[in-house]
Amino acid sequence: MRGRVGLLGGTFDPPHSGHLIMAQTSLEVLGLERVILLPAPRPPHKSGNDLSSHSDRLEMASVASEGIDGVEVSNMESAHDGPSFTVDTLRACRDRYGSGLYFIMGADSLRDLPSWRDPESILNLCTLVVFPRDDIPARLEVSGDASLIVFESPRIDVSSTELRKRIARGEAVTDAIPGDVMAWIDGKGLYRRQ
Ligand code: ATP
Repeated sequence: MRGRVGLLGGTFDPPHSGHLIMAQTSLEVLGLERVILLPAPRPPHKSGNDLSSHSDRLEMASVASEGIDGVEVSNMESAHDGPSFTVDTLRACRDRYGSGLYFIMGADSLRDLPSWRDPESILNLCTLVVFPRDDIPARLEVSGDASLIVFESPRIDVSSTELRKRIARGEAVTDAIPGDVMAWIDGKGLYRRQ
């Protein structure tokens, strides 16, 4: 249980090829034993109004990761009543999986990191793994003993926001959402209206 474990926190509303490519690239290139997708119940950085339910997002992430070796989903953040702070999640993961933690994010999240709760502790608890996004420079603006891995590629031009809009317009999204996940979304009628 105590090896190199990748954590990919996010909203997953819906999960998309970007999430899966980040997870698989981290597994392969960094030799991680697994990557755990962590859908946040109430992400501190996003307004909750339009968010799909946590159980729907957990379910979609589970469908997305089904059959992908080494990628799994955890609902460990469900235990929190308030917003799910990454620093708390990392402490819980260290107790559960040991100290070989790799927190995977896009360059947009790295840019926002100084506004997260206790960023210095976050940096002490894990190695950050950063993927390029939207030409945002992957620079760390937090001081401290940071361990940072920055990927220059792949660039994955997809976002949940854009996909929700495309689904609402009735456009096909097969390029960015796995077929099983899209079938689940269709069955539930999610994102039909914005
Ligand atoms: P939204 O459009 O609703 O903000 P999102 O596409 O950013 O959603 P999240 O689930 O919020 O998806 O993202 C989780 C993490 O994955 C974040 O750290 C985000 O930066 C990263 N991420 C998501 N998509 C990409 C992408 N295409 N390239 C790089 N990083 C990504």
